[in-house]
Amino acid sequence: MTARQSSGPRSVALPEAITVKGLSERLGISPIEAIKRLMTHGVMAAMNDTIDYETAAIVSSELGIAPSPEAAPGAVATAVREDAEEGEEAGESRPPVVTILGHVDHGKTSLLDAIRETNVVAGEAGGITQHIGAYQIDRGGNPITFIDTPGHAAFTAMRARGAQITDIAVVVVAADDGVMPQTIEAIDHVRAADVPMIIAINKTDLPAADPDRVKQQLTEQSVVVEEYGGDVLAVPVSATTGAGLNELLEAVDLVSEIQELKASPDRLATGTVVEAELDSRRGALATVLVRNGTLRQGDALVSGLISGKVKAMFDERGERLKEAGPARPVRIMGLEDVPAAGDAVEVVESERAARRIVEQARREEEGAAGARRGGITLDTLFNEVSAGNVKELLLILKTDVRGTAEAIRGSLQGLGTGEVKVKVIHSATGPVSESDVMLADASGAIILAFNVRTETSAASQAEINGVEIRTYEVIYQLIESVEQALEGMYEPVYERVVDGTAEVRQLFRSSRVGQIAGCYVTDGTLLRGDRVRVLRNGDEVADVSCGGLRRFQDDVREVQQGFECGVVLERFDAFEEGDLLEFYHQQRVN
Ligand code: GDP
Repeated sequence: MTARQSSGPRSVALPEAITVKGLSERLGISPIEAIKRLMTHGVMAAMNDTIDYETAAIVSSELGIAPSPEAAPGAVATAVREDAEEGEEAGESRPPVVTILGHVDHGKTSLLDAIRETNVVAGEAGGITQHIGAYQIDRGGNPITFIDTPGHAAFTAMRARGAQITDIAVVVVAADDGVMPQTIEAIDHVRAADVPMIIAINKTDLPAADPDRVKQQLTEQSVVVEEYGGDVLAVPVSATTGAGLNELLEAVDLVSEIQELKASPDRLATGTVVEAELDSRRGALATVLVRNGTLRQGDALVSGLISGKVKAMFDERGERLKEAGPARPVRIMGLEDVPAAGDAVEVVESERAARRIVEQARREEEGAAGARRGGITLDTLFNEVSAGNVKELLLILKTDVRGTAEAIRGSLQGLGTGEVKVKVIHSATGPVSESDVMLADASGAIILAFNVRTETSAASQAEINGVEIRTYEVIYQLIESVEQALEGMYEPVYERVVDGTAEVRQLFRSSRVGQIAGCYVTDGTLLRGDRVRVLRNGDEVADVSCGGLRRFQDDVREVQQGFECGVVLERFDAFEEGDLLEFYHQQRVN
């Protein structure tokens, strides 16, 4: 024991609560030893039992190891989050993060490639660019970061994980093909995310290109480009010839300037995993987009339940970096496991702190296991509204034919009340897809499926995420169920209905129930389930629940006018003789 002590730590930071096992590890003793020492202080604890700081500190002091309280892991996380928020206001301007979305084959990948090829981060030519999920271009000191997984599925999946990393969305529309279903889907996803949008009208090199038709079709989707009097920038481009790419990037600059994106490079970094994989030689590799602060080689990291350390960092050309500032995507080596895209990454002060935070998070996770996150459903909507969590009922509408969608949409929009608005954030024909479920998950929407099936993968995704999919075959039933949910959503108005009044004439104390007011019922009936207002000289001195009614030592349910009784109130016993007790209940009047 003595030998172990001398090689062990001289001081230790202890959390508010720690398991016996955790304590023994920190003190460098065996769990058995810890249990024995606790016993001598009258604490019977098993290895996985939790003890408080004070108890842990006694054991620690006995061993000659000076204990000190450590900041709770929650406190660390909060501090980081607050910092991040602060960075939004104060701080230096940072590059925008751009995602490219659009219909399949309209040229998202070609555009990303063309932009990357002509603008790779300054440096010696010849570096082969790798796909790491994101890249940054440097246009004479005006960097722009592009997320390299095009499409709204990835965009919304990230958002569903709470990672809104995109500052600007570029929606690509092929000039020969025009606005297609996935174009509309992309637009709806971007709108739901409340991210500014730029339209890239691609393939303008083709003879069949008709940019004007695209602009008109966009207008039908309420995306009104500048030329038509709207505020959406639309830039004609060709990924093939490179025409218009500069103008597109200028448009990005412009929109990003308006947004005044800020970050604070001086703090410890926070970031988001963009993609990750397991490399057989190098272990877990994760592309992290730094959101705030500066990430440095050697930094200790936490990402969900994974801890680690930045052993090495690379840019998109595989070159080693020592540090990476806000909006910089970097591939990092050194996480102990592979995180998921969308996971948050935080730098913490030490590797030890990282392990501790992960350990704590894991315990919390175990504790929370089984408590599945419940999404909003039509049934729970009313509660959510009452709790102030919902002000808008967001809906995604999938129908068999377009005409139906429009009819349903029209009826639904008219249903909103003063307090709660009904908003169809996306409506399309075809089965309920995974992308719909992700959009619902990310936005807190409900999916209404009319005469369409739900894809199997979408159904299981919905199950996992607690997204509600309601299927209907009759329009009026669909409308009716939304209407019903909304009716529950009206802020109910209650009115006080007085059941009876009594006068306090005498006070007693009872060893069993405390202060009792001996009363005479002057009016109506006193009911045990009522609430009671205590009035003294016309002023209300209390408004509490009735705790009991007694007549001759018996508990009774009610007492009528003209009778005497004993009254006990909850959380009030400062009766005075002459007080008036008004027994009432609430009645909903709307
Ligand atoms: P994605 O599915 O949106 O990522 O589309 P891709 O980038 O894979 O492009 C689909 C097809 O359109 C490919 O055959 C591209 O070569 C072609 N394409 C993309 N951009 C252009 C363009 O500007 N002009 C022409 N002519 N073809 C293009």
